[in-house]
Amino acid sequence: MGREMPKVSDCSVSNCAYNSNKACHAMAITVGDEPNDPTCDTFFQSSTHGGAKDATAGVGACKAADCQFNEEFECSAPNIHVGMKEHEPDCLTFQPR
Ligand code: SF4
Ligand code: SF4
Repeated sequence: MGREMPKVSDCSVSNCAYNSNKACHAMAITVGDEPNDPTCDTFFQSSTHGGAKDATAGVGACKAADCQFNEEFECSAPNIHVGMKEHEPDCLTFQPR
């Protein structure tokens, strides 16, 4: 049985092209630069905002293997929060093992 893709319940990174009204409208995001660094890899800046306005992003993949919710490079949390942390757009649901 497949499992549901976790949703990005909110994202406060308002200068990202996929963000509007504190929601992420990419179809799916990728998280994690390093095992212990849960950066949103999908973040990018543009003068126009994009994404599918009726979509709420899922977490398509996560490379932050040091997170308790990470199972074989996929996220098993029910949903995640994203926001700025130390000048980077990060998954705030990250929990070190
Ligand atoms: S979750 Fe990532 S891609 Fe989506 S709006 Fe936030 S920073 Fe941008
Ligand atoms: S909660 Fe953990 S496994 Fe899920 S996206 Fe965030 S850092 Fe990755």
